[in-house]
Amino acid sequence: MRPFCIFNCVKKFPVQYLFNVRKTTLKKNYPQSLHLCMANLHRISQSLSYETNFRYDPGMATKSEEELKALGFYQGFPCAHGHTIRSLEKHWCYFCVQKILSNTCGFDINYLHSSYKWKYQKLWRLVEINSFKECWEIKSDSVYLPERVKMPSYRSEYSRDLCENMNLHKAIYQCAWGDIGKYRVTKTCGNSRCANPLHLISSWNRTLPPKTINQMVLDFDAQKLMVYANNKEDIDLSMQGMKMNIANPLEHKNIAE
Ligand SMILES: [Zn+2]
Ligand SMILES: [Zn+2]
Repeated sequence: MRPFCIFNCVKKFPVQYLFNVRKTTLKKNYPQSLHLCMANLHRISQSLSYETNFRYDPGMATKSEEELKALGFYQGFPCAHGHTIRSLEKHWCYFCVQKILSNTCGFDINYLHSSYKWKYQKLWRLVEINSFKECWEIKSDSVYLPERVKMPSYRSEYSRDLCENMNLHKAIYQCAWGDIGKYRVTKTCGNSRCANPLHLISSWNRTLPPKTINQMVLDFDAQKLMVYANNKEDIDLSMQGMKMNIANPLEHKNIAE
């Protein structure tokens, strides 16, 4: 018999339908067989936080400091995607959250902010990239997981150090989805070694993650780096080429030395 959602929701999805998770992993982490359906996603999100209001404003990028403050935002340290407008309370990035709410997962390393570019190149080397359906295990001999990595954050604006220790899964999430400030990241597959961005959600994920990553470019490209260097202020640059789906992420596995 196929396992279904324990919350008896109308739309029932066996977890294997969405993610290829080992039964032993599931049993170990979720003895009651937690299945990722909309109700469960909602419950996971709600358990993470309940303060996730977002109002889209097309003129956000042109607002003054005073106008931003009145709306609950400020100009802070750039996120990995080069945006600077953050929430005053939880420090999440306005344009990243807009991207997450549109259920767009993806990035091009060439267009990441220069404070993050090389750090993410190093971080992605630790991830065993697989098909979108499978878990992407972190290549590490350490028994302590999740590991922490050095990465800039909203605190870099006023911190003595550019980087802080960050949960590895959160760092991966912020690269593939977006910067969520103080919010936490949860693994929907329950595999503590998994870094597949499609298995990572935060309170801002309102729908089931897409079946594929929209774009995932890990190779440095001289021409793109030049475009980045000349258009650092362009808030849409990190979304370049986002409409192009990748057929096979393994084709993009090789990282430039
Ligand atoms: Zn951002
Ligand atoms: Zn996984």
